[in-house]
Amino acid sequence: MLLFLYPDATEQTGEALLTKLREAGLQGQLVAERPRRVVRLRGAPQSLEWLQGLPGVQHALHALKPFQLALKTSEKHKTTIRVADHSIGSAEPTIIAGPCAVEDPEDLVSVARTLKRNGAHLLRGGVYKPRSSPYDFQGLGREGLELLADAGRTVGLPIVTEAVDERSLEEIEDIAHVVQIGSRNMHNFELLKRAGAGRLPVFLKRGFAATLEEFLLAAEYLLERGNPNVMLCERGIRTFSDHSRFTLDLSIVPRLLELSHLPVFVDPSHASGRRRSVAALAKAAIAAGADGVMVEVHARPDRAMCDGPQSLEPGAFEPLAEQIRLLASVRDGQREAVQ
Ligand code: PEP
Ligand code: MN
Repeated sequence: MLLFLYPDATEQTGEALLTKLREAGLQGQLVAERPRRVVRLRGAPQSLEWLQGLPGVQHALHALKPFQLALKTSEKHKTTIRVADHSIGSAEPTIIAGPCAVEDPEDLVSVARTLKRNGAHLLRGGVYKPRSSPYDFQGLGREGLELLADAGRTVGLPIVTEAVDERSLEEIEDIAHVVQIGSRNMHNFELLKRAGAGRLPVFLKRGFAATLEEFLLAAEYLLERGNPNVMLCERGIRTFSDHSRFTLDLSIVPRLLELSHLPVFVDPSHASGRRRSVAALAKAAIAAGADGVMVEVHARPDRAMCDGPQSLEPGAFEPLAEQIRLLASVRDGQREAVQ
């Protein structure tokens, strides 16, 4: 077990930690001092919570080879990612929106216009769809990619779409501005390695059964291969709850923001699976500190071939985008006032 100390933890704090461990019958050894102190622990602590409450401890980790690059090196360390004329991870919250899948080109341009007019920063649309059933619509593939790129050019929005394997990633790299690695592929380490060696920023969605550590380790694969432009997206996890499609784990947002310098997003559409829940969860995500949201919006959700019930009507996007901006300004104003 490894204990990562806060980057600004002093030598005295390190000593105080070792003393506490000794008093509890545990053996701690300082194994790194830079860029942060790391203590290797032997013995069985009473609980993870107890360890995390000890002097100077930012994070306690079970993995033998933990993430290093995904962690903050100082309180203010933050990655910003430039896409077109927008800076992701800076003060202005990032809004990524669009249909689940690229389908009808006119619908796509029509919804893209609404999104652009109301301040969205990126147009999303799946063309390689990882569907639970082989009988469901699998996406338009290369043709869809071109439709998405056309729509983005027509309205002036950069585009993001999901890669499901190395071949689709190669196609996407030629044409898109950001590549998404979806929940089902968060554990696809070969794909992560390839995207980490690629040239596009990566929008990495949390596996729906992934722990925080596993999520950050997936990001670590991308960073370790040399791609510094990684975004993390919470999109709901599997729980016993049956009132929504997944359970939005908002509690991971402040934890990720505290530990990592990477921009943190929330996708309330896949989390809830219900149009009527999307705005409330999107706003809660911003209030919790998220750098941005990804929401599904479709020109005619009742005709959508994928995820219609969770897709917003275009008319619902305008008030939501406005409220997101307002909430972020209140949130950040308060943050400044407190500092
Ligand atoms: C999507 O964004 O359309 C998608 C399939 O998301 P996830 O991987 O989170 O299920
Ligand atoms: Mn979808």
